[in-house]
Amino acid sequence: MKAAVCEEPHKIILRDVNVPGPGPGEVLVKVKASGICRSDVKGYLGTHPGVIYPMILGHEFSGEVAALGEGVESAYGDAPLEVGDGVIVEPLFPCGECTACLAGDYNLCYGLTMAGHQAPGSFAEYAIARAALLYPKDQSLSFDEAALMEPLAVAVHAVKRAGTSIGDMVVVLGSGTIGLLTMQVAKKAGATVIATDVSGDKLHLAADLGADYVVNADTSDPCELVMAVTRDRGADVVIDCAGTPQTLMQTVDLVRKGGTVTMIGWTGEESDRISLTKITRREINLLGSIIYCRDFPTAIELAVSRNVNLSSIITHEFELAEVPEALEQLSRDGHEVIKAIVKFAEQED
Ligand SMILES: [Zn+2]
Ligand SMILES: [Zn+2]
Repeated sequence: MKAAVCEEPHKIILRDVNVPGPGPGEVLVKVKASGICRSDVKGYLGTHPGVIYPMILGHEFSGEVAALGEGVESAYGDAPLEVGDGVIVEPLFPCGECTACLAGDYNLCYGLTMAGHQAPGSFAEYAIARAALLYPKDQSLSFDEAALMEPLAVAVHAVKRAGTSIGDMVVVLGSGTIGLLTMQVAKKAGATVIATDVSGDKLHLAADLGADYVVNADTSDPCELVMAVTRDRGADVVIDCAGTPQTLMQTVDLVRKGGTVTMIGWTGEESDRISLTKITRREINLLGSIIYCRDFPTAIELAVSRNVNLSSIITHEFELAEVPEALEQLSRDGHEVIKAIVKFAEQED
């Protein structure tokens, strides 16, 4: 099969590799659509701490069942699974035996491997998935939309983790893919949402997709708007989807006393600047949020019921052969790109 292999940072080559064989409990998926994530760009640049090389990057994908491993008869929740079925992939391989897995927190698994990071990913014609973490693709969803269930699950996890509920004022910092999805999920949780970004185009889309307020952090201070609409108290919840030094500093100024800051984005630095004095004296809850854990069913429900708009955030499309240049392009200038999707032409088996 053809695969875009990242041999080492800055070196990605399209070449023929063997089609992987599904092990017990695994499924071979013929990839139909794969999102390109910021973490794929970090993997390409060598700035993602979790990626080992050589690696086939890509972890946001949907496809069709091509082969079932030993003992596999069903997907998540005992849904029947047959060759040719359309599926949505949760791209994790938790060990199932460590203390985190036994506690049900498989996103925190001590032996976790993830497609595109430590296990071969979806910038290839075929990829392996865990049968128990495969979900039948509803006919109403396109393969492109189905591929975006992964970032949507990231958003669902963060909104749940922040304890967002009806009537909350939520600030979402960053209006890229994760920010736009987080904003939509927070709206569905009953919140009023203020979206920020430094791109007017992204804020325009945020407003179209339902943000109650948008503020361009490049030209105005988000704090002014947040204080104006919260009568100088601050927001109940701040979710930082950008993870830049600037947004991280802003979080504690935007949140109210006793409010919650949830981090999805991260700088990758050994240490970051944030006011611990404000966190302590204003009794702010500061939470990390990493990938997802039992969040795909919620994400799928939101997508199938059309309560979240996925297709509007897809701004660019590439073919598998274009992955090397796409990653190079996104690593240099990705500002106008929200979500790029790799589409797979019908291939002969
Ligand atoms: Zn991702
Ligand atoms: Zn584990």
